[in-house]
Parts: sequence; C-alpha cells; structure tokens
Amino acid sequence: MKRTFFVDFDGTITKRDTSEAMVAAFAGEGWQQINELWEKREISTEECANRTFKLFRATLDDLRNLLDTIEIDEGFGSFVNYCKKNSHPVYILSDGYDFCIEYILKKYGFKLPYFANKLVYEKEFRISCTYYNQECGLCGTCKRSLMERLTVPGSQTVYVGDGISDTCPAGYSNLVFAKGKLLEYCLAEGIPALPIASFVDVLEKLS
Ligand SMILES: [Mg+2]
Ligand SMILES: [Zn+2]
Repeated sequence: MKRTFFVDFDGTITKRDTSEAMVAAFAGEGWQQINELWEKREISTEECANRTFKLFRATLDDLRNLLDTIEIDEGFGSFVNYCKKNSHPVYILSDGYDFCIEYILKKYGFKLPYFANKLVYEKEFRISCTYYNQECGLCGTCKRSLMERLTVPGSQTVYVGDGISDTCPAGYSNLVFAKGKLLEYCLAEGIPALPIASFVDVLEKLS
C-alpha cells in the first residue's frame, strides 16, 4: 500500500519540544499565562509566539547551545530507512521553527523536507508564519492544509504526533500514531489513534 507520512517535529522526532525548551530557558515571567491561552486555542501560534518573544533574553548563540542539548527519538533513524526502502514520502510538519529543525536535522545527518514557521532574529526574536491557513486561523503552520497539498494522490495518509498543533490534521488522516496531548485529544474526540511511546512502536505496528 502506498503511504504518505506526515510527522511532527517537536516532542515527536525530538525527545524534548524545542519551543518549550526555549521558553523555559529564555523567557521571563508571564509566559505561562500566554501559553495557557494557546493550549486552549484561544490565541493563535503567531500571537502566542510574538507575545512570548517579548519576554525573551537570548541571542542566536544561546539558542544554538540549547539545541545542542536536544536529543532525537531512538527509533527515528530506522523509521526513515523503512520509509525510504518502501518509497513512502516523509514530510515534517511543524508549528515550531525552521531554525531549530534545520539545526537538529543537520546535526543528526537527516535530509528531509519540512514545513515550519520562520524564526526571524533581528536583535530580538520574531515569528513569521509562511504556511498560515486563513480557514484555520490558529496554527502558525497549518498542518491540515499542508497535508491536503502534499498527499500523493491515492495514497494513505499517516500522521505521527504528540501535541496541540497535531489536533488540527489528526481528524483528516487515514491513520494516526499518537502520544501525549494528541493521544488525549484523539481519545476524547473519538478519533481512532494508535498509541506510541516512540518510533520504535510505529515501526513495530507498521510491520
Ligand atoms: Mg510536538
Ligand atoms: Zn490549522
């Protein structure tokens, strides 16, 4: 069966969410309240990020040092090889930042197409949302509309994710592998999802 794989980055490919790590390391008082509004989907990713960045005290070098501490999922390499061997395209869809994805993929030697928000740094950080979808109005990078655009016609769509920004595309996927908040959401909404702890489980369930 032909499949198109869509994979979240933060907390799914990486063990720790890089946006959460950035906020914990660099943001001053007040970010929790902003984040709560975002988790309830009351403010958009763009608004959440730009308000949070106002509280940041950090440079790009600080960010690189932080990213050096981020590890990736132990099964991800085997998963990528499996997809290559079977000619299943893999796309990374992220409501995080291009800078972080680029840095970490390079460090671990992966070359994969990804779609994410742009991290702009001019004395301070700013977000730029190239893949915003007006119909959705919340995601910075709307994974749902990217999925519609990127799915190979006639193929089964498979989504792998862990968080709030994955709830938007989950209901539109043929098959969902989920952990964390995405799994909770799927259970609550009655969206069929296979629970995973890592890509080791994804591979096991695929074969
Ligand atoms: Mg995530
Ligand atoms: Zn969306």
